[in-house]
Amino acid sequence: MTMPRLIPDSEEVMEILKKSGAYREGHFVYPSGQHTPHYFQMPLAFRYYDNARVLAVALSRKLRLEKDISSALPKVSIISPSPGGIPVAFAVREALSADQIYWAELDKDGKRRFRQYVNKGEVYPAVIVDDISRTGGAINETVGLLREMGTKVIGCGTIVRFKGAPAQLEVSVGDDPVPILSLVEFDAKWYDDGQDCTDCQKDAPVEHVRF
Ligand SMILES: [Zn+2]
Repeated sequence: MTMPRLIPDSEEVMEILKKSGAYREGHFVYPSGQHTPHYFQMPLAFRYYDNARVLAVALSRKLRLEKDISSALPKVSIISPSPGGIPVAFAVREALSADQIYWAELDKDGKRRFRQYVNKGEVYPAVIVDDISRTGGAINETVGLLREMGTKVIGCGTIVRFKGAPAQLEVSVGDDPVPILSLVEFDAKWYDDGQDCTDCQKDAPVEHVRF
């Protein structure tokens, strides 16, 4: 009998994402005009509770290995930069037995915010988690929000991180950067337009994605 692996490797995670339709291969065009041969729609993996559990428990195991996190538990807040990361945040919170959970949202002006009445000083040291980091932008904005709240960021993890996105966070002057842990580091291919897109050159049918 083989012992189940505590943290599934990158191939196993990609298999879960493929099977659930969260990872797709094809010829995709974004509203920005960019073309890609692959597309992630992570909530499709998280609609199956078992997937959500396996992926979030794996990520929580990686997070727990960080001394700054394990020594602060349970007085830790799990933070999602956006509603898309909420399933990850709840499942990671459960696995780590952390006391708090928060998520930010974009308001009508496109500014990332926490809900009103979350007050400065109330948010425990933060572990930011998300389903995917494509550019690192959402995570960085969340670090800024937490800094305004007077909360220290002690950890960060995403299920998938594009290799072009930062692998660590500069949290504040004088503190060591916080590594952005992930289960998969994905080598994303992007074309700014159809000009250099290899699928366009093959006349492959186009699928337009909303974001
Ligand atoms: Zn194309």
